[in-house]
Amino acid sequence: MSDMNGKTIVITGASSGIGEATAAKFAGEGANVVLAARRKDRLEELQNSLQDKPGKVEIKQTDVTSKDEVHELIQFTVDTFGGVDVLFNNAGLMPLSFMEKGKVDEWEKMVDVNIKGVLYGIHAVLPHMQEQNSGHIITTSSIAGHEIMPSGAVYCGTKFAARVIMEGLGKELAGTDIRTTSISPGVVDTELTETITDEDVLEMFEKNFGKGKMTPLDSKDIAEAVYYTVQQPKNVDVNEIIVRPNNQG
Ligand code: NDP
Repeated sequence: MSDMNGKTIVITGASSGIGEATAAKFAGEGANVVLAARRKDRLEELQNSLQDKPGKVEIKQTDVTSKDEVHELIQFTVDTFGGVDVLFNNAGLMPLSFMEKGKVDEWEKMVDVNIKGVLYGIHAVLPHMQEQNSGHIITTSSIAGHEIMPSGAVYCGTKFAARVIMEGLGKELAGTDIRTTSISPGVVDTELTETITDEDVLEMFEKNFGKGKMTPLDSKDIAEAVYYTVQQPKNVDVNEIIVRPNNQG
């Protein structure tokens, strides 16, 4: 029997890509999974596709830029499954642009989702984990949380911030049974680039990452990394994982 049997994981950004693959992995391992994102139709589709898995799957439409909605998500999970073992703070946006384009609305969205969304998740779940005296908070940072690229000043800033927040949280929680992890993927084949509106960035992407230039990771590769961190014995706290395609420099 899997170690995850009967454990509960909340996943934000579960309507596509890495979140969706992680939901499938954990449901397959017998975990209770709560799927959160804004697109309810996509969450319902995923819930239906996971019906035959051993884990129970529930959905809760959530916009992580709303502190109240994130609190409702955690409360819904506690009411439904009796607690939260893992929070996977994974929702994110990447509308890359060159700073001179002045796309302030997009900068604000990235700060709201990639940073504040993570903080709201921590704020909502931490009291429950402290009461349980156990838990695991995992956040998706990025290679962009380690390296800066042109057009990524704001996105990289948010991913550095997410990683640093997790590191700070981990230091504060040392000595407790609440674990913290940052996952930093390289290029993964998902819908993430669909929010890019800067034509120059799209052109640069095509040149650097277009067909035949690189084989991106599959979302399942990241789901496996998330699962690895959760599966470790209670005394082992994997604080950070970087996973990139072996042809990404
Ligand atoms: P996707 O675009 O496929 O997934 C992004 C997810 O975030 C969607 O489920 C989306 O759901 C959700 N989301 C966006 N805004 C909000 C919001 N306001 N409230 C709730 N959910 C929201 O891309 P990925 O799977 O690639 O992205 C997942 C994470 O991985 C992100 O944090 C991203 O930065 C990170 N990452 C991705 C990499 C890649 O190469 N793909 C590399 C490194 C890191 P919905 O629109 O339904 O709300």
